[in-house]
Amino acid sequence: MNDLYSRHRGVLPDWLALYYDEPLEITHGEGRHVWDSAGNKYLDFFGGILTTMTAHALPEVTKAVSEQAGRIIHSSTLYLNRPMVDMAERVAQLSGIPDARVFFTTSGTEANDTALLLATAYRRSNTVLAMRNSYHGRSFSTVGITGNRGWSPTSLSPLQTLYVHGGVRTRGPFAALDDEAFIDACVEDLKDILGHTRPPAALIAEPIQGVGGFTSPPDGLYAAFRDVLNAYGILWIADEVQTGWGRTGEHFWGWQAHAQSGPPDIVTFAKGIGNGMSIGGVIARADIMNCLDANSISTFGGTQITMAAGLANLTYLVEHDLQGNARRVGGLLIERLRSVAAQLPGVREVRGRGLMIGIELVRPGTDEADPQAAAAVLEAAREGGLLIGKGGGHSTSALRIAPPLSLTVAEAEEGAAILERALRSTY
Ligand code: PMP
Repeated sequence: MNDLYSRHRGVLPDWLALYYDEPLEITHGEGRHVWDSAGNKYLDFFGGILTTMTAHALPEVTKAVSEQAGRIIHSSTLYLNRPMVDMAERVAQLSGIPDARVFFTTSGTEANDTALLLATAYRRSNTVLAMRNSYHGRSFSTVGITGNRGWSPTSLSPLQTLYVHGGVRTRGPFAALDDEAFIDACVEDLKDILGHTRPPAALIAEPIQGVGGFTSPPDGLYAAFRDVLNAYGILWIADEVQTGWGRTGEHFWGWQAHAQSGPPDIVTFAKGIGNGMSIGGVIARADIMNCLDANSISTFGGTQITMAAGLANLTYLVEHDLQGNARRVGGLLIERLRSVAAQLPGVREVRGRGLMIGIELVRPGTDEADPQAAAAVLEAAREGGLLIGKGGGHSTSALRIAPPLSLTVAEAEEGAAILERALRSTY
């Protein structure tokens, strides 16, 4: 155990999990690459969704942050804050929600917590619909709506949550259905739930489940749900913490794959939009946002420094059409990985959109999830100089690929070659 790791173990919670048998200390980054404390260089195929949406050490963001740090970082709750207003206007305009209001937080968990506060207050109900296999955070309220119970440190919740089918159909009774039959079955499930409960406040869902393994429901699922929800006045909260800002290539927001239903009532976002600075937030229709009697919710959301980073990052990603880049480079990467998968019996499926790609691993010749193989591929990829993620439903058997959105074709090729070697050495 290296010295930093033993100090980490000595003072931080036991449940603060780390990747790799020998955990990495990342010391610096540039573009799509990072370096560890031993001087090893890695292509980063996971940091794009965690923190660094655009590129590591993007000069535009670094400059905006250091200039703002040299000027002022102060309260957003008591005084006017120009960068926060500028950022809110950009986000509202990009959201597609008419008369949108934006509230900034410091994390996705806090954003979802605020969305639940709004929805339950607006509807005077603490019953919430959430998707099986979902992940929305680990605070007291978001644990309750996280369908993937393996991620829940407690079974207690301030909410009554009802879990709906639809987020994933890799296995189980729905696996054999085509898209249309799957949507019909999920809608029937939703109607069945609603027939036996007092009307819930909202349905919260990730357009593509992130921690759940980058599973994509068929286009139109949430539009079909929406018709049912509207009949009861139930709100739709789209958790875009992983799917927003062009990552899926085809759309700026993940919910747009279900656009027949119009924009959601509430959208939450976080992670990479600050390119490493902690920004989360909620976008909601004005009548919903303004239904609370609150002075604010917490001190730090929307500080000048995080907003300066967010504005610089957002400007860069829109001006450089990184959504288009995600579509083009992600499309090539998915194709390349599918051709590798076709030769390997342990790879059941390569799925996803844009630069959000999941690879489902099974024990060869069976349909059984293979979390050991996923862990082995993660280690082998690291040995080869590539960082990837893992995730999945009740077993962590999917690899997750989410590079910064500025990934080049050459880097996609290089990463795919390393991953191919890691897969072949495992199977
Ligand atoms: N929602 C989704 C879809 C997420 O993937 C995550 C984080 N994995 C969260 C919410 C929570 O965000 P944070 O970790 O910033 O609190």
